[in-house]
Amino acid sequence: MAKGTRWRDSQVRLFATFAIIMLVAVLLLGLVLALSYRTEAERRGLAQGVSEGVLMAQTAIGPLLDGRPLSQGLDPSETAAMRRLVRTATQSGHVLRLRLRDLAGNVIFSNDGSGLHQPANSDNRDEIRGAANGVVVARLTRLNADNAHGPLGPSAVEIYLALVAGSPGHRVGILEVYLPYTPIRHDVAAGINGLYRNLAFGLGALYVLLFAISYTVGRKLRRQVKINAYIAEHDALTNLPNRMLFHRLVEAALLRGKRDSHPTMIAIIDLDRFKEINDTLGHHNGDRLLRALSDNMISHLNDTDALARLGGDEFGVLLSNVAEPERVLLQLRGVIEDEINIGDLPLSLEASIGYVIAPEQGTNVDELLQLADVAMYSAKAQHLGVVRYDPSQNHYDASNLALVAELRQAIDSDQLVLHYQPKITIVTGRIDAVEALVRWQHPTQGLLYPDRFIPLAEQTDLIDKLTEWVVHRALEDLTRFGPGAEALTVAVNVSARNLGRAGFADKVVKAIEAAGVAPVRLFVEVTETTLMTDPIRAASVLHELDGAGVRISIDDFGSGQTSLRYLSTLPIHELKIDRSFITDMLEHPSHAAIVHSIVELGHNLGFMVVGEGVETQEVLANLASTGCDIAQGYLFTRPMPAEQLAPWLSHYNPTLLA
Ligand code: C2E
Ligand code: MG
Ligand code: MG
Repeated sequence: MAKGTRWRDSQVRLFATFAIIMLVAVLLLGLVLALSYRTEAERRGLAQGVSEGVLMAQTAIGPLLDGRPLSQGLDPSETAAMRRLVRTATQSGHVLRLRLRDLAGNVIFSNDGSGLHQPANSDNRDEIRGAANGVVVARLTRLNADNAHGPLGPSAVEIYLALVAGSPGHRVGILEVYLPYTPIRHDVAAGINGLYRNLAFGLGALYVLLFAISYTVGRKLRRQVKINAYIAEHDALTNLPNRMLFHRLVEAALLRGKRDSHPTMIAIIDLDRFKEINDTLGHHNGDRLLRALSDNMISHLNDTDALARLGGDEFGVLLSNVAEPERVLLQLRGVIEDEINIGDLPLSLEASIGYVIAPEQGTNVDELLQLADVAMYSAKAQHLGVVRYDPSQNHYDASNLALVAELRQAIDSDQLVLHYQPKITIVTGRIDAVEALVRWQHPTQGLLYPDRFIPLAEQTDLIDKLTEWVVHRALEDLTRFGPGAEALTVAVNVSARNLGRAGFADKVVKAIEAAGVAPVRLFVEVTETTLMTDPIRAASVLHELDGAGVRISIDDFGSGQTSLRYLSTLPIHELKIDRSFITDMLEHPSHAAIVHSIVELGHNLGFMVVGEGVETQEVLANLASTGCDIAQGYLFTRPMPAEQLAPWLSHYNPTLLA
């Protein structure tokens, strides 16, 4: 069944249930009203019967009696008058039965001769006693004659009351009279029917009103639920599906592809230089650009394709049944490069696109997105534009995938540790700085070095989490190294992905503030390759960090292809010569020449120069002769855990430099 129909059916069921519940509630209310109606009718009926009985006793029967107690019997004239009276009353239907009793309850007179001279019985003994004491007692009853016929329910009001006669008036006996209930009931009903009819009408109206309210509220709720579902699955800025919906769309496309045996292509697009636009033109214009860009891209896709915004400047594309995915994606890249006018400003962007084809390269959504991400990343790093995933780009194999899954946990459960390696200032022999190098104390595999897990982390968002952890921990450790380390600086290594993340510099600044450490005590080491992944973005982040007082160090210098012009625009404090030139500089004159040149270049640009990978006294001496400022290497010590650093520093003796 279609999803829409199922949803509608469940709505109808819900609504019907609600209508029935309301109906039952209103009916129950009606029942309560009906019961109270009956009670009220009976109460009023009795009251009316009593007043008729009292009236009869006082105005018709009392005056007929001469005042002797009825226990002495009626005299003939009284009997005759009574007979006349009851004949008229019974014939007109005003009275069903009438008896006169003496105060002890014996029947003295009876309209139909029934019960004459009989005393009170167990049925009416209490009533008669009450009446003899001046209380008017009334109840609804059925006369014997009614039992066979007539409607159920009471047929008469049975009344007992004292008869007062003579002058001055005194109780002479008891009147027992049965008045027909039907006319009384009609009278009463006429009085209260209107009220109850109104109430019944009110109930009906209430039901309709409740029904209408629930219908309207239900409709609004349904609309709101739909809106909420839309918001949960779409990006507010571009209205494109978000990552969650994209995931579902890919899943559905894979199923369709499997059923119809056609391939599905999943691509990830990452805009280059978008951060720069955001930074220079403001987020407002960045947002306008993103909106315009997504409109342009959408207009170049088929209805069966999907475009999603996965986050910041990252988009996902899903193409079903594509013959030439590369051509479509190159076209899309062309669309992104087209100029867009934001205000009066013509802007154009570039993008790196990675893609993967299912089922050929994978069948699981998460895995496919991951592979497309790897391809996108290699497109970005090598400035290739559009790249199809190729296993050689990937450091993933089954065991690596498991390791990445574990790494996430490891960061949370503090399995990572930082080891510190001192940097020695060559002329003074002092240790003014240390470099933080991460290790993973793996529960089963022992201590893992960064080359085992950093490249894996760099292929996912995990590197963000990892670097954040490293920065926090390094700054925290800095405050714990104790006496003599108050001015020590710490260097952390950051990856290209970190620099690509919006808000990276802000996060670093927040971490510095949280640790309460002077910003100049933090060095950020960035490799040349990292810089070149997105040079403009990298430059902008480095300027941000520099602006906040953080120092910048270019790591593994000499191994990459940074342009000198570019280098001269960066806010750099330190160049670290790649250790491959240092370690064997004595064996390779060309390496020694490179080291010389880098030192000179660094100094000319105003940077400090570090030689890392110093393993022997000879290399150190040679390095010193080049004028290099700082040395780092196994000659002094291997990187060590934080708690060993303080004792090591206190025993450190700069004789090696002599
Ligand atoms: P790097 O930043 O260039 O760090 C220097 C590496 O050289 C360290 O390796 C250090 O142990 C090693 N080293 C130091 N002196 C000598 C020496 O005399 N001889 C030799 N052969 N090696 C020496 P490690 O700790 O294995 O780190 C390797 C790389 O992993 C680092 O290179 C850095 O690029 C990366 N890395 C380490 N920690 C982190 C981190 O927290 N985040 C990121 N993104 N990368 C990190
Ligand atoms: Mg480093
Ligand atoms: Mg290095």
